[in-house]
Amino acid sequence: MQMAEKTTIRETKPTSPRAEGSSRDSRRQSEGSCWSCGAAADARHFCPACNKVQPQPPDTDFFRFFGLERKLALDTAALERQFYELSWKLHPDNFHNASGYEQELSLAKSAVLNDAWRTLRDPVARVEYLLGLEGVRREGDIKQQAPPDLLEEVFELNEYLEELRDARRSGGDARQMQELRHRLEQARHTFEVKMEGVLAELTAQFPAFDGASNDGARKAALEKMSEILNRHSYVRNLVRNVTDELDEE
Ligand SMILES: [Zn+2]
Repeated sequence: MQMAEKTTIRETKPTSPRAEGSSRDSRRQSEGSCWSCGAAADARHFCPACNKVQPQPPDTDFFRFFGLERKLALDTAALERQFYELSWKLHPDNFHNASGYEQELSLAKSAVLNDAWRTLRDPVARVEYLLGLEGVRREGDIKQQAPPDLLEEVFELNEYLEELRDARRSGGDARQMQELRHRLEQARHTFEVKMEGVLAELTAQFPAFDGASNDGARKAALEKMSEILNRHSYVRNLVRNVTDELDEE
């Protein structure tokens, strides 16, 4: 699962840019300035003066990594361009002749880049990640209760699944199996359509969060999205279970 496992980027502890010693602390620790030339680098990935790759400030989240505000509506095409550009700049080929420290930094940054891109490009993963950042939801916090409006269909689906398993166990005839499979495929389709509906509900909440003018409104939007996300993940699990069952044998 590529969900928001990490709420903040794990701090990479690169070895010292220069040898251990006193010079290290005064240079590297001064926030916002380049470890190599001392110019103001302001959490940029590369120093604007000497172009050396820069370490990640420890509190960088995925939004900040891409220089974005913590907002849900985002331009994924622009994000994609940024992703490819950075991937290319951080490519190991560009660091063949660089110091060990720079190689380490570029590798660590590439890893974060990939995680950040995978998380932010997908609206569901983006919301899950945001809820983690905002402390509204933790991993594994998902309620696995059937949403009331789906109870009937879930019940029916479980029956089909049970029947299919029974038929399999007793070596049911091919025609019966075929029919059960067909019914399950239809049920899966129904839930896939529902999942799209739930996703639309989720994205419809984005403006409420992005435009929240106070903490109360912000919190309310987050809680609402958390609830929608529970439903989404419930339906997603159903679809997965059916797919697993159908894929068997
Ligand atoms: Zn520099």
